Amino acid sequence: MRQTNAYALGALITVVPIVLCLVVGAIAARRGRNGFGWFFISLLITPLIATVVLFVIEDLSKQRCEACGQRIPAEARVCPLCKKDFRYERLSPETEDKLSRGLCPKCDAYNAWIDDTQRGLRKCEVCGEQYPLLV
Ligand SMILES: [Zn+2]
Ligand SMILES: [Zn+2]
Repeated sequence: MRQTNAYALGALITVVPIVLCLVVGAIAARRGRNGFGWFFISLLITPLIATVVLFVIEDLSKQRCEACGQRIPAEARVCPLCKKDFRYERLSPETEDKLSRGLCPKCDAYNAWIDDTQRGLRKCEVCGEQYPLLV
């Protein structure tokens, strides 16, 4: 009986932390991080601390809508909440500078644009990246 209890306790001590670490890994994956890596991190720093850290650091699966300030999926180009289209409001000064000089900000191709006036877009012939037609 005593041996059974010891066995049960041993199993509990081994299994519970691993399950908790798996949960941390799942949370990490949902927040756009490496679930496998976070499983090991939580083994090292305990699942509790790992969970706290996960919720403090940025949620990579989300981005913040510039118009309504809500968290929305990172790949969204139009805010699902306020319908704000912010595809082209994220141009960095460097990107704008390159565009103004006719360069593709992504691959540096010079004047390799295919204009799509209907959609207000220009597409790089070389890398296929799309940018607004008028900057
Ligand atoms: Zn919004
Ligand atoms: Zn390009």
